[in-house]
Amino acid sequence: MAARAMNPVQALSDTHLRPYWLDDPGRPEACPALVGDEHCDLLVVGGGYSGLWTALNAKERDPSREVVLIESEECGWAASGRNGGFCAASLTHGLGNGLARWPGELPLLERLGHENLDGIESALRRHGIDCDFERTGEIEIATAPHQVLELRETAEELASLGFGGHEFLDRDALRAEVDSPTFLAGLWNRTGVAMLHPAKLAWGLKRACLELGVRIYEHTPGSELSSRDAGVAVRTPYGRVFARQAALGTNAFPSLVKRLRPYIAPVYDYALTTEPLTEEQLAAVGWRRRQGLSDSANHFHYFRLTADNRILWGGYDIVYHYGGEIRAEYDHHPATYQKLAEHFFRCFPQLEGVRFSHAWGGAIDTCSRFSAFFGTAHGGRVAYALGYTGLGVGASRFGADVMLDLLAGERTERTELEMVRSKPLPFPPEPVRSMGIGLTQWSMTRADENGGRRNLWLKAMDRVGLGFDS
Ligand SMILES: Cc1cc2nc3c(=O)[nH]c(=O)nc-3n(C[C@H](O)[C@H](O)[C@H](O)COP(=O)(O)OP(=O)(O)OC[C@H]3O[C@@H](n4cnc5c(N)ncnc54)[C@H](O)[C@@H]3O)c2cc1C
Repeated sequence: MAARAMNPVQALSDTHLRPYWLDDPGRPEACPALVGDEHCDLLVVGGGYSGLWTALNAKERDPSREVVLIESEECGWAASGRNGGFCAASLTHGLGNGLARWPGELPLLERLGHENLDGIESALRRHGIDCDFERTGEIEIATAPHQVLELRETAEELASLGFGGHEFLDRDALRAEVDSPTFLAGLWNRTGVAMLHPAKLAWGLKRACLELGVRIYEHTPGSELSSRDAGVAVRTPYGRVFARQAALGTNAFPSLVKRLRPYIAPVYDYALTTEPLTEEQLAAVGWRRRQGLSDSANHFHYFRLTADNRILWGGYDIVYHYGGEIRAEYDHHPATYQKLAEHFFRCFPQLEGVRFSHAWGGAIDTCSRFSAFFGTAHGGRVAYALGYTGLGVGASRFGADVMLDLLAGERTERTELEMVRSKPLPFPPEPVRSMGIGLTQWSMTRADENGGRRNLWLKAMDRVGLGFDS
């Protein structure tokens, strides 16, 4: 008698409900909270990649600048310590989105994006940050016939526009790289994406900041940002920070500049990691070149190997909560874990029996154009960068440089970009916001089931440039 296939959900029965990356003995001690008042040239609010790169680059630009960073919890605890670790050159949430919104300046955006990725790699070397950085590229995978056509067209379009480094893989070529019965074709971006350990990057940046003299206060939430004399002041639980200038890297959390809040819809994205694969299990999948992978559906999965050969498998659902609240209880979503487990074994049936070690989720700062926006407030004394929408691991370093350029009052190649000078459309207030997001998600699911055909709602949203994604 044939053995009965395992119920995929069984593989979740002893899973740790915490981010795999943060569950690491290398996690550093927290810096003490701020008690009393602080004075500095630059206050950075937020200890994710945005804030940490801003503090680090500020010190690299001018070592004499007094820089203070405050973080509500611990550096890297939020999106920066729990993401997929796909570090992309793209500043526009992918070439397709960039082409749709800024076709004229996309070649420049691509060049700046690649320089940014190279800049990350050299900063890691310069500061001795070991975050398992592997420049493997990423393969976008077609798992439905209409997606094969789309990938082939994209490959041709990229070649005609002169964007090199992309290779179309037919079914056999793709399955020779990574084997799954669901894979039909792939488009390999060979140079524009690296894989890394997200939490080790955040912790390494924190150490580098401290070494350069940045004063970091953790468990120190900032509130009540106000103009004061020639600078700004921010209240913290046990004191205040007075600064000449401030940079906000607060991502999906309520901005200290209240007028920015309608631009962001926090959505939750979830991921699983397996236990480390054995040699035989790995051989059954191939994946010798360790590329990042994602499929091209509207509701897409992203997946990759960790340094110790687990598979991280995330994405698909994007969960928005009415009012856009961020709460610890939203970090877990068993219904999504179940779906992800089922989809995992459909993709890799040869891995039956593998178990999931960790499951977690986190908030993404979705904005309606899917790529970050930038600006200043308080008469140019405060700069912000947010709205990375699920592709901020690499782009947040670019955003940090934009914030520093804006605060310096410098006109640079970055600040002159239309992407930097323009803003997305804000999301409407509740309950229209929830209804619109619900309708968009339903329509995206329908499009995935209907050969990619977009309904009237999605077409109307495309026309006005209002989107919703993770
Ligand atoms: C599950 C998941 C998977 C993802 N996968 C990828 C991926 O593979 N590739 C990719 O490019 N991107 C991915 N992303 C997105 C990426 O992680 C983010 O774009 C990036 O980490 C943003 O960095 P950040 O510093 O802006 O935000 P965060 O890391 O969220 O940091 C913001 C920090 O600000 C602090 N803060 C907020 N308000 C205050 C305040 N008032 N006072 C003090 N501190 C404050 C918060 O505590 C937080 O630590 C993913 C995100 C998630 C959640």
